[in-house]
Amino acid sequence: MKIGLAGMIPHNSTWITAEDREAVDSVLRSGWIAQGGKVRDLESAFNLINDGGESCFLSSGTAALAMALRGLNIASGMKVALPTYACSALLNAVYWVGAIPVPIDVRREDFILNHEEVPSDVDVVIVVNMFGVFAELNEFRKKDLKIIEDCCHSLGGRRKSDYKNTEADALIYSFYATKIISGGQGGLVWSRNRECISRIQDYRQFDCRIDFEPRFNFQNTDIHAALAFSQLSRLEEIRIRRAQIAERYLSVLPEGFSIQSKLMNPDGMIYRFVISAPSSSVRDTLFAHLLSWGIQCIIPVERYELLHRYMGINPGLFPVAEELAGTTISLPIYPSLADCELDLICTALRAF
Ligand SMILES: *Cc1c(COP(=O)(O)O)cnc(C)c1O
Repeated sequence: MKIGLAGMIPHNSTWITAEDREAVDSVLRSGWIAQGGKVRDLESAFNLINDGGESCFLSSGTAALAMALRGLNIASGMKVALPTYACSALLNAVYWVGAIPVPIDVRREDFILNHEEVPSDVDVVIVVNMFGVFAELNEFRKKDLKIIEDCCHSLGGRRKSDYKNTEADALIYSFYATKIISGGQGGLVWSRNRECISRIQDYRQFDCRIDFEPRFNFQNTDIHAALAFSQLSRLEEIRIRRAQIAERYLSVLPEGFSIQSKLMNPDGMIYRFVISAPSSSVRDTLFAHLLSWGIQCIIPVERYELLHRYMGINPGLFPVAEELAGTTISLPIYPSLADCELDLICTALRAF
């Protein structure tokens, strides 16, 4: 039984089973807790998920973004397009490799970076499968630029069951506590480009090297890998439970509210159930209403978190992101949400 803060239903919660605990304990008993065989097992699992290619497990999703850029030879002075309605990890990773971030507005209907606004002189684009909705990568392919697909929200989903799952040059994932699969912390880069992954593998570990080149320590441990690997075996179960919760919310969506188009993709992973209110004041009223019922929601991306605001660029140039930040609210959706909690949230939504 999970107990929320002061009896509240939390917006997010972990799902740790006896098998997960045993997987971690067996690493602790083994005498090898640093990067080792469990890291390699996790990497192999991601190669299977992506139908080939190679993977590199790292300390975080942010490190994975920075390493994907570096692996694809994105360096000082090069331009990286990225959605302004996203996680600030993207901006940090771009600055980390010394490149120039080019924030782009998203589309109203699916919250995905608007490919029509990507200038022709950028070298790479980071596309986020926002809240689980897949971006159409062929729209970017026409532009002759490299693509990094941020799959932190879409792990476990399939674009279409009969189609190669990605056209991107590199994919990145996060295993932070609140993500689909958690290792506590962690990240991973996957690519079919062997050179890209070799560069990352070389860079992630500075120790015991014959030659000297500037490298770093972006390794992760077998403890984190074993926890993530154990959870990975439940990926389909997680996907189905999240879809069930989303169906329930959809059936009681308050009047005037809408959801992302394509969120209810039968093959997709729903990471967040984000609803858009007709206005900021209605959004704020619903937020307070749910809180009074003991239900904790979040504003998935606050105005101040929009990347163009962090960069000090005129907000008027990003009308959709500004609107979404002002009108959206994210409802609790995670596999350990109990049926009685789900019933209560649905009752509260109907009462609004
Ligand atoms: C969480 C997240 C990241 C960063 O991952 P960390 O492991 O927290 O560093 C990057 N992109 C997206 C879309 C995320 O949700």
